Amino acid sequence: MSLGPGVDRQHMPTHQRIDWTPVQLPSGVNLRLSRHEYRGTANGPTVYIQAAQHGREVNGTEAIRRLHDYLIDAAEFHGTVVTVPVADPLTFDRRSYTTPEELDSIAPNMNRVWPGDEAGSIHERLAAALWTVARDATVIIDLHTASASTLPHVVFTEGDDEAEQLARAFGTELHLAEPAGEAAGPEWHAREFHGKLRVAAHGNGIPCITPELGDSERLQEGAVELGVTGIRSVLRAVGVLPGKPTKESPPRCRNHLARTRAAAAGLFRPDPSCELGTTVSSGASLGIVYNPTTFEPRQTATAEQDGVLYAVTRRGTVAAGDRLASVAIPTDQFE
Ligand SMILES: [Zn+2]
Repeated sequence: MSLGPGVDRQHMPTHQRIDWTPVQLPSGVNLRLSRHEYRGTANGPTVYIQAAQHGREVNGTEAIRRLHDYLIDAAEFHGTVVTVPVADPLTFDRRSYTTPEELDSIAPNMNRVWPGDEAGSIHERLAAALWTVARDATVIIDLHTASASTLPHVVFTEGDDEAEQLARAFGTELHLAEPAGEAAGPEWHAREFHGKLRVAAHGNGIPCITPELGDSERLQEGAVELGVTGIRSVLRAVGVLPGKPTKESPPRCRNHLARTRAAAAGLFRPDPSCELGTTVSSGASLGIVYNPTTFEPRQTATAEQDGVLYAVTRRGTVAAGDRLASVAIPTDQFE
């Protein structure tokens, strides 16, 4: 298949959409997946990009549509770009994060089953079908969008230098190294993070990044643009597009999964001084949980360590145990 570097394989880039139906629903309806394949004018890497395996995270889908407009107008690029705009049609239709038990009682969260199982549950079959395409990629971008109260960032697997370069190229203000496998803590294992696409890719030697664009459940121009410029910058970094990556990220932080959690249920009012991206000190006040009917303060939430405040819940009502805020630890504190 390889023609050798720099050898023209055709005069113009080509595009085709391929539909396939790897899964049948209880009603007998076939679930369809669509992927787009863009082949450039010369040999180069294959970049696999998917969005919306958590269906409510719609900004990645729109970013892929805009990338389509860009690539079909491009006179020249190298290698192959494969995109899947809607990786999980079930959660996309429900505008949800997971599927209900009726559809998948084994694995309601698709991003816990990679590389999937073609004889398994609906999500395991969907992941297996996508993996047959993704496993041939040189690099993978798995687009997600965290909630509106999260600073956009890119996650990569700690120790994967190539993935870290991709994260830097993507260009968000913050990127997070996440330990995996034996290096990860008990919560990582308890939450079955080993089944993330990024972790499966890393285990197969494919550098993979998870951009969290920010703002799920609605199309938000800033999040979409961040996705498009980030993808194009990664495509430059790997040599699909000419030129250099747009910008380099600041030093990385570590995603250690430690969070400030609600010790009591109630209404959480974040401290007005809590701005995403700012540095906070251990013990700094992040807000108050109070009883909404008696007004009694039930918890003063504080930062558990020094670091960069990158997520604060603004949903109002919280149950005991809910995440209130997340602080990422700058990596130099480990070294
Ligand atoms: Zn997600």
